[in-house]
Amino acid sequence: MRKYDVVIIGGGPAGMGAAIECSKCGVSTLIIERDNRLGGILNQCIHNGFGLHYFKEELTGPEYANKFVELLKETNVDVMLNTFVTKIEGKKITIISPHGCEVLEPKAIVLAMGCREKTAGNVKLKGTRPVGIMTAGQVQKLVNFHGKLPGKKVVILGSGDIGLIMARRLTYAGAKVEMVLEIMSSSSGLPRNIRQCLEDFDIPIYYNTTITEVIGKDRVEGVKYAQVDNKMNSIEETEKYIDCDLVVLSVGLTPENDIVSNLPINPKTNGFLVNEFRECSDGIFACGNVLQVHDLVDNVTAESLLAGKNAGLYAKNLLQKTNEHKIENGTGVRYTVPNSFFENDDNVEIYFRVTNKIKNAEIVIFGDGKEIAKKSVIALNPGEMSSIVLSKKGINSDIIVCARERL
Ligand SMILES: Cc1cc2nc3c(=O)[nH]c(=O)nc-3n(C[C@H](O)[C@H](O)[C@H](O)COP(=O)(O)OP(=O)(O)OC[C@H]3O[C@@H](n4cnc5c(N)ncnc54)[C@H](O)[C@@H]3O)c2cc1C
Repeated sequence: MRKYDVVIIGGGPAGMGAAIECSKCGVSTLIIERDNRLGGILNQCIHNGFGLHYFKEELTGPEYANKFVELLKETNVDVMLNTFVTKIEGKKITIISPHGCEVLEPKAIVLAMGCREKTAGNVKLKGTRPVGIMTAGQVQKLVNFHGKLPGKKVVILGSGDIGLIMARRLTYAGAKVEMVLEIMSSSSGLPRNIRQCLEDFDIPIYYNTTITEVIGKDRVEGVKYAQVDNKMNSIEETEKYIDCDLVVLSVGLTPENDIVSNLPINPKTNGFLVNEFRECSDGIFACGNVLQVHDLVDNVTAESLLAGKNAGLYAKNLLQKTNEHKIENGTGVRYTVPNSFFENDDNVEIYFRVTNKIKNAEIVIFGDGKEIAKKSVIALNPGEMSSIVLSKKGINSDIIVCARERL
């Protein structure tokens, strides 16, 4: 097989964005995708709301993906479909394609494998395991791809964006969504999805509430549910029962990073730790949902353009690295991306999520014990990724990013 300077794993929006930007550096680039088409998860997201920032228009998922497929055709990027990467050790990539098993060793790699949904086992869902317990993405694929309705009376566990979107989609398709149960005191989904997917359809959401038992032998017959206390233990006297034939799980996503060994992982996100070039270790870059679970595909694209460009520069030995300093998360901040920056006069945009909702908020960056940057915002919400642009001029120490109520 031909030798490539840069190999990108995953042909979703992150992989395609990275490939387009990488090829602009004049390096030979290959995308490897296990599916039989490019586009990743976007292919099953037929609702609109994609691309408002990047293309300044409201697109469906497949339309957004297709714009990148068209842009790719104008480059010399090669694509291998139906090809599974089974292992990455150092820069050795093992692939299985219809032609057999091979090992590639490019100068640089971009990891863009996306994420997968957490399952009933991951959240230790109590009760039986009959037919009718599905993740929101599985339901989305069945309804949108195959035109099949997997249930008529639905309870959704978790209020992540996919679950909220599926509450609306299942209602359109003729099912009755009885309720959404959320164990936390607020939703992890975007506020716009709470309004447009639940409130507009009178679908109730119960916070601090979870399923205590799934009932049913062959098929789901109903669920017991109850409120939880501040230690997440269910409160027995609040337990109720509701009939349903489908339980939809929208209980979180986790980066699809099992094929890679020995790269440092951020335990808060399960994604890789990266420097400002989105580099996890020498010549290995990451972007998109494999790095951090994004709520907006436009942010995936911004991140992938950066990772792709830097992978291209690395392959040409043009990536300049000066003194490196850490970016730590301080009070109110759950995690940041990136986790370090290089000393120079440029700007760095730091993306982060907060630990809890903050009204009248300010984001403050400390360096060497002093306040070095501040930004005021109306509110910060754990369900929405936020960012702050920092001018690095004169900064020569590690920094800490904090979020708090305005003083
Ligand atoms: C249900 C849902 C609704 C959403 N709604 C919106 C919305 O309204 N607006 C918005 O802006 N964003 C939305 N998003 C977010 C956005 O779609 C995602 O953030 C984005 O698609 C992630 O892109 P990605 O390329 O990182 O991952 P993916 O799209 O998941 O692509 C990863 C690709 O890597 C491939 N892959 C993985 N492992 C391997 C391997 N070992 N070998 C080869 N290939 C591999 C996969 O097959 C896949 O094609 C939504 C997401 C979901 C799931």
